[in-house]
This record gives sequence, structure tokens and C-alpha cells, in this order.
Amino acid sequence: MAKPGVPEQTVAERRPDGWQQARRRVSSDPAALISAARTGEPRALARLVSLVEDESAALSSVMKLVAPMTGHAHVVGLTGSPGVGKSTVTAALVRCYRAEGLRVGVLAVDPSSPFSGGALLGDRIRMQDHATDDQVFIRSMASRGHLGGLSWATPQAVRILDAAGFDMILIETVGVGQAEVEIASLADTSLVVVAPGLGDSIQAAKAGILEIADIFIVNKSDRPGTQEVIRDLRTMLAMASYGSSDWKPPIIPTTAPSGDGISDLVAAISKHGGWLADTGQLGERRRARAREEISAIALAELRQRMGGLPGESRLADLAARVAAGELDPYAAAAELISG
Ligand code: GDP
Repeated sequence: MAKPGVPEQTVAERRPDGWQQARRRVSSDPAALISAARTGEPRALARLVSLVEDESAALSSVMKLVAPMTGHAHVVGLTGSPGVGKSTVTAALVRCYRAEGLRVGVLAVDPSSPFSGGALLGDRIRMQDHATDDQVFIRSMASRGHLGGLSWATPQAVRILDAAGFDMILIETVGVGQAEVEIASLADTSLVVVAPGLGDSIQAAKAGILEIADIFIVNKSDRPGTQEVIRDLRTMLAMASYGSSDWKPPIIPTTAPSGDGISDLVAAISKHGGWLADTGQLGERRRARAREEISAIALAELRQRMGGLPGESRLADLAARVAAGELDPYAAAAELISG
């Protein structure tokens, strides 16, 4: 755990493949790191996010310090099948927000590979531009996965970026699994990206991402089949029933590489933000997010008390005793929880 009073520490920052390991001197005191991050010091921010990835014991003191500084950022989730253009859309959004003078944080998260993280996603965005703009922070999230993986880690990284003063935080996830839906649902505004020519786009939407979509993006609108995708989405949305004050997800066609449609997308995100604030949904979503966060942290704590993962823990011993009839399962569960 980082201790106040130890002002400087040499850290080897983890770098994506192909990058040289950089040894840098960054303060390890949480309060100093946070104030440096708030002034836009990218290495301090990188170090704070690394604390999340490393499941550092210093996190609880970091979270205590940042709590009063959070709540400002508009958190936007982007999700969709591989290849639909999420990274390209993200890069185009970053460009747009930067042109408006906003600070933008991007977390690229790959729930399917907790160890490698979304390294490729982040690198692709990083390579495109913004590499030297310290008002943009782009990070691929990896997680050791011990404490509950990226569902545990992502909201904490979001808190750190929020406290650091970013106006917009974009969380990009890949795949169409449950974990992705969970991570996307951490956002204030969830964007679901589909594209023509990928066949499964609408099926993927039906498989569970429909419910979380606040805005549909039909990217690659320069390609044939765009109108069919839009029509299918409209049909699907027509089958849902919306009350007069409900948000009806708009469908925004984009061609991300040229930026076509991106200003419409920015306008839709902003409109959704206004709707969230006006209807009280923003508070509701954030309370739901906090509930998930608390549960994830409490469960991780419980799992640690249980001695790690089942099989290598006291749980295995208790299970053996229950199976042998030496102990009843209620007593075993009570023993487990009591730590
Ligand atoms: P991701 O896997 O969803 O992040 O997709 P990428 O952003 O990496 O894009 C996949 C490929 O589609 C890349 O080669 C992009 O250049 C290309 N692409 C992205 N957006 C568009 C678009 O609007 N039109 C066309 N024609 N290609 C695009």
C-alpha cells in the first residue's frame, strides 16, 4: 500500500506490446497523485488507473479522496460486435469533443480477455491521433481478474477519470456478451454500434443490447445495406412501447472515418444527457451504478475473506465437510462469511 510521506517512487509503467517499458518518477502518495491528475498530468492519471488494474490496497484511500470530486463527467458507453467501427467512432467523437474544448477520457475494455485487456482497441485509437494531447486520456483496461474482473475495475477507473476533471468519459467494449452489457450499463448514455454487411448486427441487438441502447449508431453508412439495417432497427423499436416521457432511442447513421454523422451523434448524446437530467433518470442511473459498485466491492471482499477462489480455499474444506454430512450448509455458509 502506498503511504503518505513517501513522496516519490520509481515505477515501471506497463506499456502495450511494442512499447518500451518506461521508468518514470511519479509520486505514490494518493493525494498528490490525485491533485496532479486534476491538473492534467497524464502519468499521475496512468498511475491511478494502474492501481485499479493492480487491485492495489491503496485504492480504498484513493476512492475516499476522490468521492467528493465525482459526478461531473458524462459517461458514455460504446458497444457492438468486433469490426463495426467502435474504435473509429470513438476517435471521431474524441476529435469532436476536443474541438469543443472538452477534456475526454477513453477506457477501452475487452471483457472477453481480462489478462490482455483491450490493448489493441486502445492502441488503435491512440495511433490515430491525440497521442500528444494531454487533454485526452486513452487507456486499455486490463484486470488481474481476481476481485471480480472488469465489472469491478471499470467503474473505479471511471471514478478516477471523473475526479480528474474529464468532461466526457467514453467506455468502449468489444463483443456482445453479458459482461459487455454489464459494462455498457455503467454508462449514463449507452451507444450500440451496428453496421451493414456484418449479418449478425440486429441479432446481436436482439440478444440483449437492445435494452441498454440509448442511441443506435449505424456506422459504415457509406456501405450498401445501410437502409436495411436502419429499417430493421426501426421495426424493432416500433415493437417496443414507449410512454410519452420515455426516451426513444434515435438511430444515427455515421461514416466514422470521414466524420459524417458524428455531429448528429454528439447532438444526440447531449440531448440524452439533457433528458437524463430533466427526468431524474441521471440520479437513478447513478444510484444503480453505485449499487453495482458496492456489490462488486463487497463480493470481492467476501471472496478474499473466503480465502480466494473456490477450490483453493476454506470453501473447499467446508464443502468436503458438508458433502460428508459433518456440517450443514447453513452453518458452513455462516462460517465462511464470518471470515
Ligand atoms: P471495431 O472493432 O468495432 O473497433 O472497429 P474498427 O473501428 O477497428 O473498424 C473496423 C474497420 O472498419 C477498420 O478497417 C475501419 O477503418 C473500418 N471502418 C470504420 N468505420 C467505417 C465506416 O464508416 N465506413 C467504412 N467503409 N469503413 C469503416
